[in-house]
Amino acid sequence: MGMIIQGATGDWEVVIGLEVHAQVSSNAKLFSGSATEYGAEQNTQVSFVDAAMPGMLPVINRAAVEQAVKTGLGLKAKINNFSVFDRKNYFYADLPQGYQISQFLQPIVGEGILTIDLKDGVTREIGITRLHLEQDAGKSIHDQHPSMTLVDLNRSGVALMEIVSEPDMRSPEEAAAYVKKLRSILRYLGTCDGNMDEGSMRADVNVSVRRPGDELGTRCEMKNINSVRFIQAAIVYEANRQVDILEEGGTIAQETRLYDSVKGETRSMRSKEEAHDYRYFPDPDLLPLEFDDAFVNAIKADLPELPDAKKDRFISEMGISPYDAGVLVAEKEVADFFELVAKGRDAKLSANWVTGEFFGNLKRTGNTLATSPISADALGEVVDLVKDGTISNRIAKEVFEEMFDTGKSASAIVDEKGLKQVSDTGAIEVAIDEVIAANPEKLAEYRGGKDKLLGFFMGQVMKNTGGKANPGIVNKLLKPKLDG
Ligand code: ADP
Ligand code: MG
Repeated sequence: MGMIIQGATGDWEVVIGLEVHAQVSSNAKLFSGSATEYGAEQNTQVSFVDAAMPGMLPVINRAAVEQAVKTGLGLKAKINNFSVFDRKNYFYADLPQGYQISQFLQPIVGEGILTIDLKDGVTREIGITRLHLEQDAGKSIHDQHPSMTLVDLNRSGVALMEIVSEPDMRSPEEAAAYVKKLRSILRYLGTCDGNMDEGSMRADVNVSVRRPGDELGTRCEMKNINSVRFIQAAIVYEANRQVDILEEGGTIAQETRLYDSVKGETRSMRSKEEAHDYRYFPDPDLLPLEFDDAFVNAIKADLPELPDAKKDRFISEMGISPYDAGVLVAEKEVADFFELVAKGRDAKLSANWVTGEFFGNLKRTGNTLATSPISADALGEVVDLVKDGTISNRIAKEVFEEMFDTGKSASAIVDEKGLKQVSDTGAIEVAIDEVIAANPEKLAEYRGGKDKLLGFFMGQVMKNTGGKANPGIVNKLLKPKLDG
């Protein structure tokens, strides 16, 4: 499963740990009432607190705390009823306070577990080290003025959850699966929208290499990568870079590197800062965060069914294959849609239609589930018509395409075009007799031992009936007639 790089001197194993910054879904910032809407005009969502005006005091946003606890519970993690906000001191133009309020020694959430889904139904558990709450910084904009950098403070003070993993991943695929699963869980919980292209979720990617079985090697950290594809590409590039250095007898300098997605390479930004460089200390403007079990239990009681539990239920109670179940639960909206289709119907057949034709037609017509012209009920009707034999599977696919293109219902299209499957044995026998009469040489070959021609005759009968003959009945009637 792991990624092994073969060097001239032997194999190297890749080790990855991720720090994901997830923006808390909340109408207000972590310590102020400012709005957090994405895409607002620059510097229009900035209170005096966010701009660090003298004398302004932070006030904790209860909703953001609840979201962090909810996320912790979703990651099966230990919730710390006592946690502390610390100041992490550093200078940056887009950090007006001169420090970031974060959590250091006593985070709100401790150790947890994330189960990642790999190829062929394989799963692996990745350790979560911690989750802590912190403020986002503003944004420096370097490309709008020839000689000056502009600063947008809309993000300043926005609540982030930093979710830190153990160095448990061993390949780019595992890192990708981790980010996807984390995003899926956050979306199910409603604690982060997971929109990586809007910066709601971004990852610091830590990579090291070692001889299999050895102690951990020195890591390099690549900051702020905001797509799953780039995370994978950065790992591949970085791991190979480190192997090249080690193979030549060099050593890895622990440093912070930048992943350049245009050049597809990483380059050094600065040597890695240590915790003591930041002069962490408890923020004197904020009391420690304390809550009781009742607070946590109320949030726990409100947790939705999460993807792993849903997947298990789809497999054990509905008989869906592990692969299909995995596809169906990845997005909550898809899972909900599927359950509407499957309600009171053949679940497996419903799953096939959702993951097959439905997704296929969404893609063909450039739609997503949200813009789908086909409702769950409309798809359910197709499943019903197939199930009760009114139309064959093949006809159903054509009908479905037409539904997508015209918005008509399945039964309307079937009626209009006379597509009902022919199960009347008399009519099918007539069709078989016609086909046999029209193909005397083929019949002779068949009777001479060329069994494969059964398929040819089958196809001809289906063609003769415009695809409407019930294939099961054709099958039953055809062979005795061919055999004479
Ligand atoms: P910092 O904030 O200084 O980067 P953290 O302890 O918060 O330190 O985060 C460290 C991250 O780096 C974690 O995700 C951890 O799993 C990962 N990590 C630590 N050591 C290694 C290593 N040798 N190789 C790869 N990843 C590592
Ligand atoms: Mg880090």
